[in-house]
Amino acid sequence: MKISESRIYNLGRELLEHRGGSTHGWTQSLLNLMMENEPFRLASLRFVDVAPTLREDADFTDHAQAYFKHTNWLGSIVGTKLPAQSLTAKLVAPLVRRNIKSMARTFIAGETVSAGVATAASLHTKGLATSLDILGEAVLTHTEASAFTHSYTEAIQQLGQAAPNWTTNKPYPEQDKLGDVARANLSIKLSALDEHIIPAAHTDTVARLTEKFSNLLRLAQEHQVYLHVDMENDALLPLTLDVFEQVLLAPEFKDYPHVGIVCQAYLTASDQIFARLISLAKTRGTPFSIRLVKGAYWDYEHAHADQQGWEVPIFSDKAATDQRFEELTKKLLKAYPAIRPCIGSHNARSLAYTITCAEALALEKDDFEIQMLYGMAESFRDYLVEQGFRVRVYCPVGDLIPGLAYLVRRLLENTANQSFLRQHGRKEADFATLLAAPVPTKPEPEAPNTTFINRPLLDFSKASARQQAEHALTDNRKRLPLDVAPQIGGRLTPGSETWQHTCPFETSLTTTRVKGASEKIALQAIEQAHTALPKWTKLGASKRAEILNKAADLAQERWGELFALQIFEAGKDWIHADADLAEGQDFMRYYADQAIHLNSRFQPSSRWGEANTTVYEPRGVTAVIAPWNFPFAISAGMISAALATGNTVVYKPAEQTSGTGLKLCQLLWDAGVPHDVLHFLPGQGETVGPTLVTHPLVATVAFTGSKEVGLAIHQQAATPCDNQRYVKKTIIEMGGKNALIVDSDADLDEAVPAVIHSAFGFQGQKCSACSRVIVVGNAYEPFMERLTTMVQDLKVGPGTNPINHVGAVIDQEAYRKCLEYIETGAIDGTLSAQAPLPMGGEGHFVPPTIITDIPSDSKLATEEVFGPVLAVFHVPTLNAAIDLANNSPFTLTAGLMSRHPQHIEHAKTRLKVGNLYINRGITGALVGRQPFGGGGLSGTGTKAGGPDYLLHFTEPRVITENTMRRGFAPKD
Ligand code: NAD
Repeated sequence: MKISESRIYNLGRELLEHRGGSTHGWTQSLLNLMMENEPFRLASLRFVDVAPTLREDADFTDHAQAYFKHTNWLGSIVGTKLPAQSLTAKLVAPLVRRNIKSMARTFIAGETVSAGVATAASLHTKGLATSLDILGEAVLTHTEASAFTHSYTEAIQQLGQAAPNWTTNKPYPEQDKLGDVARANLSIKLSALDEHIIPAAHTDTVARLTEKFSNLLRLAQEHQVYLHVDMENDALLPLTLDVFEQVLLAPEFKDYPHVGIVCQAYLTASDQIFARLISLAKTRGTPFSIRLVKGAYWDYEHAHADQQGWEVPIFSDKAATDQRFEELTKKLLKAYPAIRPCIGSHNARSLAYTITCAEALALEKDDFEIQMLYGMAESFRDYLVEQGFRVRVYCPVGDLIPGLAYLVRRLLENTANQSFLRQHGRKEADFATLLAAPVPTKPEPEAPNTTFINRPLLDFSKASARQQAEHALTDNRKRLPLDVAPQIGGRLTPGSETWQHTCPFETSLTTTRVKGASEKIALQAIEQAHTALPKWTKLGASKRAEILNKAADLAQERWGELFALQIFEAGKDWIHADADLAEGQDFMRYYADQAIHLNSRFQPSSRWGEANTTVYEPRGVTAVIAPWNFPFAISAGMISAALATGNTVVYKPAEQTSGTGLKLCQLLWDAGVPHDVLHFLPGQGETVGPTLVTHPLVATVAFTGSKEVGLAIHQQAATPCDNQRYVKKTIIEMGGKNALIVDSDADLDEAVPAVIHSAFGFQGQKCSACSRVIVVGNAYEPFMERLTTMVQDLKVGPGTNPINHVGAVIDQEAYRKCLEYIETGAIDGTLSAQAPLPMGGEGHFVPPTIITDIPSDSKLATEEVFGPVLAVFHVPTLNAAIDLANNSPFTLTAGLMSRHPQHIEHAKTRLKVGNLYINRGITGALVGRQPFGGGGLSGTGTKAGGPDYLLHFTEPRVITENTMRRGFAPKD
């Protein structure tokens, strides 16, 4: 089929000649300024995002002044000609609020469902079809999911009742060959229906959503209302498609024609998605609609994939999306009548292409429809209606605060660099450019990446990753328990003390049977490690790096058994288990790379005739003493830092995770680390710990664990024994009592999940976990309402099932301690919320708990709990919050959720912690990106995963040579 470019040009030109500004007054001048001035655009988008949540005038104006420091800018958003000095809080706040409201009215079709239905009726009068869309905050809790479902129900009922009575002055095609096109039309988001949407728990989530979508569709069928399923971000795509497919094939809905789904052309997989939908339509027999759009989450999809190290799921080139859009337009129109085609676009070229293509296929004007957003491209819309096409307007409904994300997206779209609407001009040349066929630019061949990049986490929204996890668990469970014993110089050595570790969530499952090392065995290990030093040092950094990189490769090959052990031995969930392995691999590769460049990176300056060099030599035998909570990553990090710099290692894993410790050593040995260079010494801390720390041949102790043990080690190591040749070095990373501050203007859609994730991820058993939340001012009540409901909604259960948010704590001792803290909290303050525990079954499950109203000196406010217990404080100001956060001997991590630019700057200087996080959760530091470790009583501040960490494992020697001989010296 040939599509005539000249016809596209002529049609496009007709459309463009009807172009007129659709937005008015202040909104238009703001949009113009945003397009001209990038910093102003950024400030405006951020300000519009926060403004409606600022209830006090003074607060409102304070934010306006902080965002629009430039006085002309402030004048622009106020929209008056008054001099900036006279812009007082009293004047600014009401004026700008009014302006923002009027801007919102441009894009939002009503504040309530009934207002939206009234707008739909009035658009119908003008010959326009509509689809209502209910705006809302992110659904975090069951009450929010119920409220959304209630709004959808209300909309279906109201639309169903009202639509048959709508009248029109401009009849438009309300029928095609297939029959009636339902007037009453509602767009829905599946993510709004349920609070437990977990892409990793695919089967369970699909079942829940299928039930909820079916309930709505049943009601829609009863009222003859059309339901359209919107697409959201890429992670929800597999779920959305599966749910849609299951519901549409169910016998009760198989014949219902008034239903549809979106296909986003910007996805590189959009052609496959489209093919799947066409095949669904064929299997089903009854047509449904496909709304083809370009896609609305550009920045998010790019940034998210980039941060995760995942392949970006969308085209990065706008023209490539446009080209795919045209290819799919053609296929979609060709698919009629098996499918009802809907084309969503505000772009004259895309619209002209659609019409030209429909003409070439001899389709009637009523065989397809064109869809546009409320408030966008109204002149195109009206022109197309005049020409007899069916145009459907997508009408978002809701009040301003829940509608913010939508509003910001529209502003982004209207002002984006590549946006079609930005391009002005009515000259012939301009038309030609605007209407030219999209020509994707050829991607530049990527230069090979030589710098370190993190190992991407598995994306469990993908079926292949889920199968990999399930297979690993079934396969490796059979191999438990593991027998673990010391291995000194490659020889299995019978241990003296024995113990068993059981699975935290299934205590009848023994994971390891351990024979712990005695003091005598520890001595042998240290001596052999000392003897092996010269050989390992001589090997050189590059060869050692090769071995460490090989070990990281082997960890990838052995992913299944390591992953399963993380879950059965440490009680992790899928995501945390994979993350721990990825971090361990990252440490190996990062330190391997850093060690090669160590001698060239940190060099003193030289002068003509004076050559100064620092050589970083290994310190000697390193005792690595590790905790159980990141059993692979932290052990791998400390061991590989020592090995990379030429030290030999005697490694003692934590008692609870000796199995993972053994598997780590095995892969290092298999990669080429000699057995006399790395010794495996499982053992009880009290038995072998003191020998490792005080032995005169041990030069360095790398420890991660509790404050009590860490400080004792530090003290023991400080006292030299008679024949000791070194001042021992201790690299000590300990606990935290980390605070996350929620400022009065924080975005609660982000703050509440960030707190939940930081406080309860891996049962709160992270040194970086959030154990105190400090809420400022009037954010307290809405924050607490959402937080407590979300906690009550958390699912507690075995980490093997990804539907569970929180698992079991490591052992009986940890369980007992957590319950004691909860008891203390309930006595010192108020137990505000708790998640329910699984019925029956075994396991050390502690309910995620929120405690409020405790005094700042309560044990719960000052001691590390290391479990899912969170204390919440309410303070009047940011300064009070910072003082409270700083009032702890631990200074590991802290966070601030705020949208006030000056508050963010203030916190950067005043919140004194090792790792400060702004507007995100406070856990999950990545190697090479967030060098990690605190000062104060949280540790020696050595910043694992950072560029200077390796220096702690070396002995620097400086050599100065006078290169001058009889007045002659080489210049370099
Ligand atoms: P822990 O202090 O009980 O044990 C850590 C290691 O020390 C274990 O291998 C243990 O056997 C050993 N040990 C115990 N007594 C010893 C002794 N007398 N001499 C020498 N070694 C001894 O800690 P844990 O329960 O395994 O881990 C949890 C703690 O670790 C928490 O406090 C957490 O905050 C901290 N942690 C800190 C970081 C960090 O980077 N700052 C990271 C992870 C964990």
